[in-house]
Amino acid sequence: MKILELKNLNFTYHSKEQETKALDSVSFSVEEGEFVGLVGPSGCGKTTILNLLAGIYPAEKGTVFLRGNPLEHTTTKIALMPQRDQLFEWRTIEKNVMLGLEITGTKTKENIRYGLSLLNKYGLGDFIKKHPSELSGGMRQRAALIRTLVLRPDVLLLDEPFSALDFQTRLNVCDDVYSIIKQEKKTALLVTHDISECISLCDKVIVLSKRPAHILQTVGIDIDKSLSPLKRRESHDFGKYFEAIWKLLEDKNECGTQTLCKKT
Ligand code: ADP
Ligand code: MG
Repeated sequence: MKILELKNLNFTYHSKEQETKALDSVSFSVEEGEFVGLVGPSGCGKTTILNLLAGIYPAEKGTVFLRGNPLEHTTTKIALMPQRDQLFEWRTIEKNVMLGLEITGTKTKENIRYGLSLLNKYGLGDFIKKHPSELSGGMRQRAALIRTLVLRPDVLLLDEPFSALDFQTRLNVCDDVYSIIKQEKKTALLVTHDISECISLCDKVIVLSKRPAHILQTVGIDIDKSLSPLKRRESHDFGKYFEAIWKLLEDKNECGTQTLCKKT
C-alpha cells in the first residue's frame, strides 16, 4: 500500500535579491515499510523535498498524499531527523528524548514509558542521566532517532543522518539505525549524497538532477534484504548499481560528480 505519494511538487525560494527554483515537478511514491533513498548533487533540492514533507513550508504547486489523503501539516505521522543530531547539551539523554513529547503536548505517562522502553531496548538504558557530550557519535545518533520514534511517526525522514560521523563509525551506525527502523516497522525516506550508503540501505533509489531537482530515474535495488547494510556492500551486484547511478549523475549533471562521494 502506498503510504506517501508526491504529485508534481514545485518549489521556489524567494528572497529580495533573487528567486531560486529548487523543485521542478517532483513525483514519486513510497510503499508502506519501504526504505527509499533520494540521491543527487549538493544543492539540488533534497532537503527542500524533506522540508515540504515535514510541513516546514508548503509546496508552491503539487500535492502530497499520506495514505491517500492530502497531507495536513499538523501531522506527527511524518517526522524529520535532521542532519546533525541536534541534541541539547544542557539536557540529559532522557530529557532530550522526551523533548518532542513536551513540544507536542503529548508527554503522557504512557509515552514516557514508551520512550524509556526504546532507550532500554536500544542500549541506552544506562545513559539516560548522561549529557550528549558523554556519549559516542553513534550513541548520540541512536538517541536522536529514539527522540523521533517516541512521537510514533509512520514515516521517518532522514536528512544525511550519518554525514557528521567519521567513515568507520558511519558504517556501524548505518547498520544500527537500519536495524532499529526495521524492528520498529517504519517507512523511511533517506536523503544522502553518498551513492554507496544509499544502495546499501534502500529498496529503491530516486536519482535527482541538479537544481531545480527533477527525477532522472528510479533504480530498484534487488540485493538480499536479509543482509545488513554493511554486508550488502559486499554483494555481487553492488558495483553494478553503483556504476548505473554514478553514470546517471555524471551524464546529466556536468560537474555533478565532484560533489558526490567516490566509491569506497
Ligand atoms: P540539498 O539538500 O540537495 O543540498 P537544498 O534543498 O538545501 O539542497 O537547497 C536547494 C537549493 O535551494 C540550493 O541552491 C540552496 O542554496 C537553495 N536554498 C535552500 N534553502 C534556501 C532558503 N531558505 N532561501 C533561499 N534559497 C535556499
Ligand atoms: Mg541538504
